[in-house]
Amino acid sequence: MKYQVVAAAYRDLEQASGRLILIDRLAVLLAQTPEELLPKVCYLCQGLVAPEFAAVDLGLAEKLALRAVATATGVEPVEVVAAVREAGDLGQAAEQLLAATAGEREPSLHVDTVVDTLHEIARAGGSGSQGRKLGLLADLLALATPLEARYLLRLVTGNLRLGIGTPTILDALAQVYTGSRKDRPVLERAYNICCDLGLVAATLASGGLTAVQKLQVRAGNPVRVMLAQRLSDAGEILTRLGGQCMAEYKYDGMRLQAHRTADGHIELFTRRQERVSSQFPDVVELLQTGLGPREAILEGEVVAYDAAAGELRPFQEVMFRRRKHGIAEAARDVPIGLFCFELLYADGEDFTGLPYLERRTRLADAITLSDRLRLTTAMEVATAPALDAAFEQAVADGSEGLVCKATGSTAIYQAGARGWLWIKLKRDYRTELADTVDLVVVGAYAGRGRRRGTYGAVLLAAYNPDAELYQTVGRCGTGFSDAELAALPARLAPLIRAERPARVDSRVPADVWFEPSLVLEVLSAELTLSPNHTAGWGQLKDDGGLSMRFPRFTGRWRDDKEPQDATTSQQLVELYRTARRAPAD
Ligand code: ATP
Repeated sequence: MKYQVVAAAYRDLEQASGRLILIDRLAVLLAQTPEELLPKVCYLCQGLVAPEFAAVDLGLAEKLALRAVATATGVEPVEVVAAVREAGDLGQAAEQLLAATAGEREPSLHVDTVVDTLHEIARAGGSGSQGRKLGLLADLLALATPLEARYLLRLVTGNLRLGIGTPTILDALAQVYTGSRKDRPVLERAYNICCDLGLVAATLASGGLTAVQKLQVRAGNPVRVMLAQRLSDAGEILTRLGGQCMAEYKYDGMRLQAHRTADGHIELFTRRQERVSSQFPDVVELLQTGLGPREAILEGEVVAYDAAAGELRPFQEVMFRRRKHGIAEAARDVPIGLFCFELLYADGEDFTGLPYLERRTRLADAITLSDRLRLTTAMEVATAPALDAAFEQAVADGSEGLVCKATGSTAIYQAGARGWLWIKLKRDYRTELADTVDLVVVGAYAGRGRRRGTYGAVLLAAYNPDAELYQTVGRCGTGFSDAELAALPARLAPLIRAERPARVDSRVPADVWFEPSLVLEVLSAELTLSPNHTAGWGQLKDDGGLSMRFPRFTGRWRDDKEPQDATTSQQLVELYRTARRAPAD
């Protein structure tokens, strides 16, 4: 299969908007793809050459890619720089330069060649590796058509950003291999437990839906994490959870998913599936001694913890120290503790389909507790006063609040879902009129006066997973420190787009548009109905959405969140309804 076929699909996808059109176009591509190439083409649609958690790093900075373009087209690097400046990105610049030098070239590159060469580029290391990477990329470009060059360069510099989410690709796979989209949830479950679209696609193509249904979690493949809904009333929480629940302390740290594979290696993943074992050697050590099963997947919250005093500390201390003093010193000065709350797999057995209480028993059996390797504190409660008391106790003990977990027989581990089996109750829900929300930066406005040269405000959006759209909810220019403001343009520069990205749903203009990527935490005094913003459009009022009053950046960038993990439009609608029903006292 020629790479040109993929490049042509990219071009169509980039121009299309509307989910059904995207799915249909992807389906055409996938139907054209021979079975043995399906995993590779799926990764390419994600802008990758392997599953994201495999963390294949091409190690190709834009500068090097630029030199490869110069070599392949025979123009001077300064001319490539000028073309980039004019065209806006390296991909487009390469396309234009190739059109001038080799516009008539027939497509000859194969998908296999492209992907294999990119893996070779990633593997090149040690002395002379830069030259080798450059040579390999230049060789590819010397065979590429202008359109292929555009996407090759965006792919290698990590800027493909077609904006199609994995659910859309799963829809297209379902359409091609099962004849309709109705079985997408089966594919989605499989993806959520292995994070490998290529594996799901290959299993579907070779064994059909039945084989996909049989896929199980496996040590080494991160599982997409289960998340919690939020409510602020103990009675309401209990009603939602069937009259009783297990109230677990909500520790304020960082969630880690630990995998021990059959070779004894322990890998730690963040909730975004980044590998962080090297940042937490102390956690790896704890698990090496305390984790029983040979193979296992366990989840816990790593926190700053003074074991001698039994005291939880602010987690920022850990992160700050690591950045400032390095990992070894931080491990000594700010000791951590791991509070475990899930066991998803052990020695060949997948526990994700078991009810919570059973998983908890297996978890308790699987670890040998120590000072720093702990289970989350958990209490079974069945009345609102008992839940309130548990909350007060949790806060008094230095935790953020509670995660209330359903205990019934259907309370499975819902990988990748923010369902109603877990409901969080945090301190700030009760004291603030509105809670913090995590929003995506989609645009910005030029600063004036003291803010000249940087941005004066950013345009923020919530995520609507059903429509795969980022829907605006207002501008925010408050809460940024001077240093933060000064750093904004550089932070946002790689995300600038000449036009509003198709996935950004906005009725207001912006001076600059960004690819939705960065997430920040905002505190807003109130949510109000607005004819200008699109979050929750039509849900509370026919021709209106929601906007924030007096939004304020809390200073916290949520680098641990993907844009799809931001607060959803639906959550904003619920926050609005809750605030109307129970105004803060
Ligand atoms: P927040 O902004 O409140 O941290 P979030 O959006 O990051 O929330 P939520 O689903 O709202 O994620 O809250 C669940 C998070 O709380 C988990 O991802 C985990 O990091 C943390 N946590 C702390 N203690 C527990 C616990 N006992 N059980 C489950 N998660 C816990």
